[in-house]
Amino acid sequence: MPVTAIDIYKKLPQTNCGRCGSPSCFVFATRVALRQEVIERCVSLEGDELKELKMLVGEIKPLTTGSGANAYAQAAEEIKNRIKDIDFKVSADGLAAEYLNEDDKEYLRLNLFNHKYKVSKTGDIVRDDGLQPSAWAKIFLIIYINARGKGSLKNEWISFGDLPNTFAKQKSFKDNSENVLIKNFAGKKEELKDACSLLAGIDAAAEFKCDLAHRFSALPKIPLLLLFWDENKEEDFPARVKILMDRTVLNFIDIESLVFLAERFAKELCEAKGIMVNTV
Ligand code: SF4
Repeated sequence: MPVTAIDIYKKLPQTNCGRCGSPSCFVFATRVALRQEVIERCVSLEGDELKELKMLVGEIKPLTTGSGANAYAQAAEEIKNRIKDIDFKVSADGLAAEYLNEDDKEYLRLNLFNHKYKVSKTGDIVRDDGLQPSAWAKIFLIIYINARGKGSLKNEWISFGDLPNTFAKQKSFKDNSENVLIKNFAGKKEELKDACSLLAGIDAAAEFKCDLAHRFSALPKIPLLLLFWDENKEEDFPARVKILMDRTVLNFIDIESLVFLAERFAKELCEAKGIMVNTV
């Protein structure tokens, strides 16, 4: 299988520190995949990690798509053929997706946050409202289908740090999702509430002791729970955010993609209120 920006991104530190000159690890990975950048420019890599990435990068074939495409669009294009061999009919149940056969063409229909999408075996994706799906939406739909997850949810909320083998990614998870929400919504509970509604969040405040709680269906078997405690300046109490997930989440997505999903989730909430976050 050809090496793509996603493969490279998964092995980067995902701290979005910017010291390579790219605004995020994802953009850097895409530039490396396009041969516009060399892997050694990531100053956080050394030893075996760097060696492993150099080997991976050595396998990159020149891409056929236009190099002017933005990072997400490029990555979405690269991975779209990964689902061509998946048996949609067999996999639909495990993914909690709807199987469709129209004019002898097979599709899976599934949600990603507040929209439904129809995905073909060639990785072409149509959004239910007819609007063009975003490139990041395409990436997550393909990753989710390609993971072919199965099994039931445990309906037990846990934090990212409670998942196995996440120690090295905990800082990235916090910095790129929870801290982004703290930075942009501290003291703005009502705005965050509006943003949650726009992303089809379901109010769950009655079930949790916090100032705001919303449940989301990121993907059919990847629910997320957002908990928010607003700042109290008089008592010198800073705002806090927790993004929780079902204990089974790694049956449906790998750790690195989950970090990326949480990052996008935070950005979508910001962008729903017109706040532009400084990455791609
Ligand atoms: S690729 Fe490396 S240097 Fe660039 S933002 Fe990511 S961690 Fe930082």
